[in-house]
This record gives sequence, C-alpha cells and structure tokens, in this order.
Amino acid sequence: MKQPSTNIVTNEALADAEPHFVAPGLVDASGPQPLLISGKCKACGALSFPKAEVCPSCLSQDIGTAHLASDGVLYSFATVHQAPKHWIVPYHLGYVDLADGIRVLAHIEGEPVIGGTVRLALGRVGTGPDGSALTSYVFSPAGDAT
Ligand SMILES: [Zn+2]
Repeated sequence: MKQPSTNIVTNEALADAEPHFVAPGLVDASGPQPLLISGKCKACGALSFPKAEVCPSCLSQDIGTAHLASDGVLYSFATVHQAPKHWIVPYHLGYVDLADGIRVLAHIEGEPVIGGTVRLALGRVGTGPDGSALTSYVFSPAGDAT
C-alpha cells in the first residue's frame, strides 16, 4: 500500500485501484464532485496548480494545499493529434479559468466552446500497457454532466 505524501491529500484507494491515475495526488476524488488539489502559499495566499514548491508570487517556500473550484470557463484549447504512447488521440487540451482565479491546463472532453462553462470530472485519457484505463482530471461542458 502506498503512503500519501506528507502534505498532499491523496485518495489511496483510487491511486492504487483500476483505473490508474496518470498523476496520482492531483485530484481529491473522495466526494461526489472531484476537486483539484492545489498549492496555497501560507504567506500570501497565492494558488498554484500543480502545487509549486516555491510561491510564484512571493517566493515563500511555506506552501500548503487547498481544493480548487470545480467550475470554470474555457479560455482556449487546441486539438492534439500526437501524444506519448498509450494516450488516446486526438484529444482537446485547454486552459480553464477557475472561479478562484487560477488558470489550469487540462484535457477538455466533449465539444469545447471557448468562453463556455466547464466542470471538473474524471475521464479516460489512455490505455496502459496492460490494457487498463489511464484516468486523469478532465473538464467537460457543464451542461453535459449526467
Ligand atoms: Zn506567496
């Protein structure tokens, strides 16, 4: 059993279970709505995602964690046709401006609309060498939630 990092909230069950997260520790999927886990500077409150070791705003190294808003607006996106082995292509990669003021790079599912509202979800982004699904955080048009 993996032990979680000291200051990152990790859902061990999901990190160890099928499907595998591409990058465990970035998402708290313990509740009904998954949430991204950011860094939050204890000195100035600046957010970073993924969590920065040094605050990009004040250079403090005293960085805690926080949950980010699950809703945002799609700032821009591109369609990617080449990717590392095992990733599903083509896929949409976009920047989402979250409600708490941070811009996050993520897979965008569905039919992206710049300026449209999107919501965080978990999605399959690839297939592992053993055939298992590779899971990551994705954003979907908010109206598509089922
Ligand atoms: Zn700071």
